Amino acid sequence: MSSTAPHQALYRRWRAQTFGQIVGQQAVVETLQNGVRSGRTAHGVLFAGPRGTGKTSLARILAKAINCTDLRDGEPCDACPSCVAIREGRTLDLFEIDAASNRGIEAVRAIRDLVQYPPGELAHKVFILDEAHQITKDAWGALLKTLEEPPEFVNFMFASTEPFGFPAAILSRLQRFDLRRLTVPEIAGKMRMILEAEGRAADTDAIDLIARLAAGGMRDAESMLDQLLATDSKSLTADRVREVLGLVDEETVEGFLNALLSGEAIVGIDLLDGLEDQGRDLRAFTDQAIERLRAALVASLGRGSGGGLAAAGPAALSAAARRLASIDPVHPGPGGLRLQLELAVLAPVEARASALPPFPTVERTTMPTPRPAAMTPRPAVDAATAAPSHTRQPAPVPASVTRPSSSAPAAKSAAASAAPPPSAPSVPPTTKRVRTGPTLQFLLERWAEIVEVISKSPPTKPLILACRPVGVEGAVVTLGFPEAQSFFKDVAERRRAILEDGVSRVLGMPVSVRCVAANVEVSALPEDPDGTRLLSEFRRIYGDDIVDVGDVG
Ligand SMILES: [Zn+2]
Repeated sequence: MSSTAPHQALYRRWRAQTFGQIVGQQAVVETLQNGVRSGRTAHGVLFAGPRGTGKTSLARILAKAINCTDLRDGEPCDACPSCVAIREGRTLDLFEIDAASNRGIEAVRAIRDLVQYPPGELAHKVFILDEAHQITKDAWGALLKTLEEPPEFVNFMFASTEPFGFPAAILSRLQRFDLRRLTVPEIAGKMRMILEAEGRAADTDAIDLIARLAAGGMRDAESMLDQLLATDSKSLTADRVREVLGLVDEETVEGFLNALLSGEAIVGIDLLDGLEDQGRDLRAFTDQAIERLRAALVASLGRGSGGGLAAAGPAALSAAARRLASIDPVHPGPGGLRLQLELAVLAPVEARASALPPFPTVERTTMPTPRPAAMTPRPAVDAATAAPSHTRQPAPVPASVTRPSSSAPAAKSAAASAAPPPSAPSVPPTTKRVRTGPTLQFLLERWAEIVEVISKSPPTKPLILACRPVGVEGAVVTLGFPEAQSFFKDVAERRRAILEDGVSRVLGMPVSVRCVAANVEVSALPEDPDGTRLLSEFRRIYGDDIVDVGDVG
């Protein structure tokens, strides 16, 4: 390739041109070659499989094979006029149609018109329809008859990532080939070949990292490689791959996973803040974290090296992996991927809260003194030792309280059920028999400390600064948000787990938090640049939720 030639994408330049160059998909290739050899290629075929696995490449190679004038044992020569015309996209007898933009009945009518006339230069007129699941029902109906009785000289090849979107009547007319995702060694092997041919060098780590990130799609791997080779002329390293692709370094991934495994929610949340500050892509980060957990899990079972994480043991690792894998990075729902990742690190905290025995009703004249250690994140230990000392008596835990609480509502109701019934008479703390929750006065005395702890999570800082404790009933703390800024209340509702964790830690007892809009006087939001930055970040994260921002900042 001349250096003055305009840049052509690597995946185009290195696209497989013969069956022999197709990576993976051995069974499919063999079946296709057998069909070509015996002259029994179906007039309608479907290539189904994930993106970047070779569907349209195979369709083109098959088009070459059935037209090749110098066929070699089922393999197109890639040199005869037919092969060259197809390779260079110069023949009028090969139609590559993007069905995503030509999906209607008009497009199918045009195809039906073309089908009537024999090919001009090739032996077979070939129609390749990519993204074919997009074709409309009416259009399929119009195409059905042609597929049932195609002229001898016509071949249809469909490619689709979603074959289940095809009508059954159409599927029954097609010979179907299912392509699988490529393995890391398969992708790495082709990348090595490309690098060698391009005269470029790369570390094994870098190649493996790209191959893993491509998640089975060769085209994605080639696009990444292309991007990387264009940015730097030096030998490619794994660090360079991470830098260019916006990935996170291994230490940060490990730090997050340690927080996830140990339940140190605030550490994990701080880490996520840092990633957002650096503009890292949380989707890629989620993939990296899952990949790292997987390696640790395999190591914990005695294979490979998984670093220090493997010491957490298979049970904890698989539970953590399941939490992360349940996140859909593409459709994370309200609050975005950021919130989903935070909920993942908060899950152990919730589990601890729901595993706590109900508040004991004991004779006590003073409120329990918070443990000094309450200010530091609790280590990940079992619920019995994690519970504040005053709740550590071996009270039998009702089954309804120990249910697994992977969801906030479950933890919520468990914590709420720990509160005395609302009908219980409210007894002032000065009398001998007291409620076991905190008093409002105690809460107010500790408020500055609570604000400090919760402010460590920047996205939660504006929330805690915007509210005041307005009531306590049993173990339920009510936080009032100014009515004019009710959006804070709505967002606080969803971040309640973080608020509850902070309040509970400072008070040294588990509480649940209720958020209400109230006529409260709250000092102005922080005017320091830090606070302003946090608020704007907060708005960015919750942009869709915040409607009445006019009064703020
Ligand atoms: Zn040929």
